[in-house]
Amino acid sequence: MAAAPSSRHSVAATAHRTAALINVLAGEPPTAGTVAKVLREHGEADPIDLTEHDLAQLRAAALLLREVFAAEGVDGAADLLNRLLAEHTGRLRLSSHQGRSPWHPHLDTDDDAPWAAWFLASSCLALTVLVWDRQRPPGGLCASPSCHQVHLALGSGPTRRYCSRRCATRERVAAHRRAHPQT
Ligand SMILES: [Zn+2]
Repeated sequence: MAAAPSSRHSVAATAHRTAALINVLAGEPPTAGTVAKVLREHGEADPIDLTEHDLAQLRAAALLLREVFAAEGVDGAADLLNRLLAEHTGRLRLSSHQGRSPWHPHLDTDDDAPWAAWFLASSCLALTVLVWDRQRPPGGLCASPSCHQVHLALGSGPTRRYCSRRCATRERVAAHRRAHPQT
């Protein structure tokens, strides 16, 4: 089935954007180009103008959101989201961006909020709905010590430990080497 035009406003699409932005913002100091690329890949329309101030604020927001992924269990994630909702978001409202998109909920103060306020608010909203809907943590940190990526847990299977198959394979090989140092 083809994706509906509104799909980029869905909870899952927003949560995927959140994880991708955390991963590009929270590691090496990000550049405007790499962040704009991730925003474009997740449906933001050009022009995407990011100042140094925007980048610094976006990075601060990413570090706050990363704590939700690092939290212990669903209760820990909910506690952290409650703190972010109390301190960093506006009131729940609906926006259609003057008819340019389907109606969808916003937690930022207005449609022209700065990038970081929009990122934090839209991410809190999506992660909150995921906790509500699934009663599980919305995601986690990769268990590989050489990786700092967050990943979403949208499936219904057992909790995922690694962000990617690549990390899982690398850690399996390393564990095998530790167990069999002679080979
Ligand atoms: Zn990883």
